[in-house]
Amino acid sequence: MSFVFISHPWCGLHEAGTDHPDSPDRLHAINDQIIASRLDFIIDKQQAIQATKEQLYLAHDKAYVDHVFASVPKEGVIELAPDTQLGQHSLNAALYAAGANVMAVDLVMQNKAEQAFCAVRPPGHHAEHARAMGFCFFNNVAVAAAYAMAQYGLERVAIIDFDVHHGNGTEDIFFNDERVLFCSSFESPFFPYNMGPGNEHILNLPLPAGTYGDEFMQAISEQWLPKIDAFAPQLILISAGFDSHYEDDMGHFNLVETDFYWLTAELKKLAVKHCNARMVSTLEGGYVLNALGRSVAAHIKGMMD
Ligand SMILES: [Zn+2]
Repeated sequence: MSFVFISHPWCGLHEAGTDHPDSPDRLHAINDQIIASRLDFIIDKQQAIQATKEQLYLAHDKAYVDHVFASVPKEGVIELAPDTQLGQHSLNAALYAAGANVMAVDLVMQNKAEQAFCAVRPPGHHAEHARAMGFCFFNNVAVAAAYAMAQYGLERVAIIDFDVHHGNGTEDIFFNDERVLFCSSFESPFFPYNMGPGNEHILNLPLPAGTYGDEFMQAISEQWLPKIDAFAPQLILISAGFDSHYEDDMGHFNLVETDFYWLTAELKKLAVKHCNARMVSTLEGGYVLNALGRSVAAHIKGMMD
């Protein structure tokens, strides 16, 4: 079965703002490296479809979703939250970003693909049930998880988030939903500064600035992998944030491509064991273009090998 790479040209049109780190060039850098790595010969590239309002309501407050739809400016941009600007094309981009994730869930659940990567922007993991935040409007990975549970009756979905920032939105949405095992590693103390205490199915892994790959791997080996194994997920979702790369000055971790490959390959082993290798990954952070492209290629190889 194939590996599907899902994106959409509209995701490049979201107007995050001049000099904003979430630049359309991020998607170009990923595409360039996919070609340079010769992955384009072995992956199945598909165009995303848009998420519906009903799909967004699975993870978000209805009034909040309607507010985002009603806020699209006729010209210029408006700020829904600090650093979180909505332009004329942003809503459509966000709908394709969430829709890519819904489409990916359909493909893996219907055995039309084993794994999928969604190269999309805006990202999603800071978006809470009823609040835009940190470049994010709709929580793409949360929509994927909620859709998988609603549409396919899944009772155990694991979400792994290795962005340098805490996935506060995903924690907020699933804090009281034991069907979701949420594992988030992140620099601490750091934005968004609101890590909760977690619970038995919300596994926060705060790590200090300057964390290297060996420390990252040891912490994940000890604190996450046995628990994901015991959880026996029916689907593994990934919030793939590459701002934890050492070249990325959005954070202060010292991870490199081989660390992303290692974690992804470990998750692949668990996916093979528990869920017919079904994995859906979606782009979160990652702002230094060369490092982002190389890291995504390593991540995709980790899912394919
Ligand atoms: Zn981030």
